[in-house]
Amino acid sequence: MSRPNLFGMEPSALAAVVDDLGEPGYRARQIHGWLYSRRVRRLGDMSELPKALRSRLEERFSLKWPDVSERTLSFDGTRKYLFRLDDGATIEAVYIPEDNRRTICISTQAGCPLKCAFCLTGIAGYKRNLSTGEILGQVATVMEEHPSSTTHPHRREEDPFPWNVVMMGMGEPLLNYDATVAALRILMDENGFAISARKLTLSTVGILPALERLVADGVHPNLAISLHAPDPGLRRALMPIEEKYSLDEVVRAALAYPMPRGGRVTFEYVLLHGVNDTPAHARELARRLRGGRVKVNLIPLNPAPEIPFDAPSPEAVDAFCAVLAAASVTVSVRRPRGRDILAACGQLHLKGAEASVSG
Ligand code: SAH
Repeated sequence: MSRPNLFGMEPSALAAVVDDLGEPGYRARQIHGWLYSRRVRRLGDMSELPKALRSRLEERFSLKWPDVSERTLSFDGTRKYLFRLDDGATIEAVYIPEDNRRTICISTQAGCPLKCAFCLTGIAGYKRNLSTGEILGQVATVMEEHPSSTTHPHRREEDPFPWNVVMMGMGEPLLNYDATVAALRILMDENGFAISARKLTLSTVGILPALERLVADGVHPNLAISLHAPDPGLRRALMPIEEKYSLDEVVRAALAYPMPRGGRVTFEYVLLHGVNDTPAHARELARRLRGGRVKVNLIPLNPAPEIPFDAPSPEAVDAFCAVLAAASVTVSVRRPRGRDILAACGQLHLKGAEASVSG
């Protein structure tokens, strides 16, 4: 029988472990720090714990990050990681270096059940939710392979390339609520990854009950909403989830979301040639969002053979942008990263035989 993995356990679970072993409560915080702040790879390396305790932990538990089965480097420095999980499921994470920061895009599910018409992840099918350890393991692995260039790795202020983590890989984080929120808490914990809420982004189609829960639970990373259409009819054609959680309600919930430091909620909008990329669509979008503390992130479609849409022309992107800007809606265009290695938005997918199509 395999020993339970300590990596991924939340404070309450670690407290129970420590309690079972008859150890004082503060040991749980220490173990938390070794797992998620110092991120040792072996239980035996938790050097401020008494030797006897370390061996008892080793007898009963394992410490395991998900295995990397492939790394692919893009011409632009983006690096895609393929992880093979214990049950054979595969997931992807992406490391994206930028001029003044580094971003890790992580997955929260193996595959995705949402079936958005333009996204390869949905087209390839859904397998299962990821565990907290599988979500955090992606971050830990990418960070370990890209050590901080400063002499004070634990003093974030001095890092010229601060880490950002975005939950924008495979899957819908709010359909895997418990593991996602546990991972967010550990990412934000000072005695964990110590990433501030401002540098964490959760991207969602807007699963309303889960979004409300997130607000009530006091876990508030930046919020990005996948909108992709300015009206319910078109959105329904592109995103089946519109049947359940409508555009109006999603926009209303997003505007009420408590962003870190009063920042702006992002609305993501994938531009599809001839489908949702005309100036009329832009005007309708501006009308819906005008006056809100929002920004729109336009994402020109990253094409793939299986995706039945084309990328917008550069002129259409410019015109769309201009309409929003003229209506005083803050807008940016996402530069594709890692397109040549299928690491760009919407290009992450389950590998061949692993895909089991649901629904
Ligand atoms: N399920 C969540 C998290 C995944 S985020 C969500 O939908 O927000 C993935 C982001 O990439 C979303 O904004 C999505 O709309 C975008 N995307 C999906 N397919 C794409 C494609 N082919 N080209 C560009 N962006 C795409």
